[in-house]
Amino acid sequence: NQRYLLAKRPEGAPTPDDFALDEAPVPTPGEGEALLRTLYLSLDPYMRGRMSDAKSYAKPVELGQVMVGATVAEVVETNSDAVAQGDIVLAYGGWQTYSVQAADQLRVLDPDYLPVTTALGVLGMPGFTAYSGLLRIGDPQPGETVAVAAATGPVGSAVGQIAKIKGARTIGIAGGERKVAQLREFGFDAALDHRGDDLRGALKAAAPDGIDVYFENVGGPVWEAVKPRLNTYARVPVCGLVATYNGAADPSPAGSAERLMGLILTKSLTIRGFIQTEFVASMERQFLTEMGQWVHDGKVTYLEDITGGFEHTPETFIGMLEGRNFGKTIVRVAD
Ligand code: NDP
Repeated sequence: NQRYLLAKRPEGAPTPDDFALDEAPVPTPGEGEALLRTLYLSLDPYMRGRMSDAKSYAKPVELGQVMVGATVAEVVETNSDAVAQGDIVLAYGGWQTYSVQAADQLRVLDPDYLPVTTALGVLGMPGFTAYSGLLRIGDPQPGETVAVAAATGPVGSAVGQIAKIKGARTIGIAGGERKVAQLREFGFDAALDHRGDDLRGALKAAAPDGIDVYFENVGGPVWEAVKPRLNTYARVPVCGLVATYNGAADPSPAGSAERLMGLILTKSLTIRGFIQTEFVASMERQFLTEMGQWVHDGKVTYLEDITGGFEHTPETFIGMLEGRNFGKTIVRVAD
């Protein structure tokens, strides 16, 4: 069994000597397990995160352990009824030519339905990432504009096509001419090159009415260029920040903004601004009824700081901004 072990934790971009090729005996499956021969190994951006021991949403790969990864594999031997010898399955076998897996964790694939490699991409984790993040968080509406970067990749290309099915206008962003041509094949309405010198200008031209959904895959300068184009009520599913994965911690204000995006991603934070007027039509009546009752019943109490003298209005106001008020500041103007 040939395996790639994590040999070193990279600083910056990974290098070949961060991995060690190792030869081990082909493992033997136990009760309920199957021996798999790897046919395809998926390589995904998240693996860069697993190489680092920085605190994250998932445990790092330990030094000397096999690198993790999704695989499409053939069942060679099985001690379970869940799979049969010869089945092609989706597994999480890692960077190795054979692996032993719990048989009930395997998804049996039908090679006559679609190429089995789709289980690693468009019909696998990346496709599901696009589908769920776009529809649950982005919620694109007909006529809206949806932008996504890394848009020829498995996540971004699916985002663009699903958004199109939902009736949105789509802007794909990718690096280099060949990828930009591919964006058109995928049906994006506008195809932009983030390596071109004026992404901001290109976005302005491509999104004259602004951007309603920006599906964030990359962060960095692309995010900086997208930000000014975001419309009121825009949604930004923060899916990935691949532009920052190789970077070192940056103590500058730019680094602080980047860390905030990282926190939003890894903790699935909802950070959603609002101006109360947005909700008046839908919630004010309910507020007056419910809150009125609570105050009346003493379940909600309140504190007022009522000062006399209209002529003291300016200093009362200034004092309130400095915290000299004790409760809701009110000026008694007349009796
Ligand atoms: P891709 O196959 O699209 O590969 C990554 C791509 O990122 C590269 O091809 C490159 O495309 C782009 N890229 C890399 N560096 C930069 C940069 N500095 N600026 C702009 N673009 C850059 O990846 P996936 O489709 O598998 O994943 C896309 C994103 O989704 C990643 O951030 C990944 O971590 C994230 N993800 C998140 C998941 C989640 O559950 N939240 C699950 C799966 C993926 P180009 O040359 O076009 O710039």
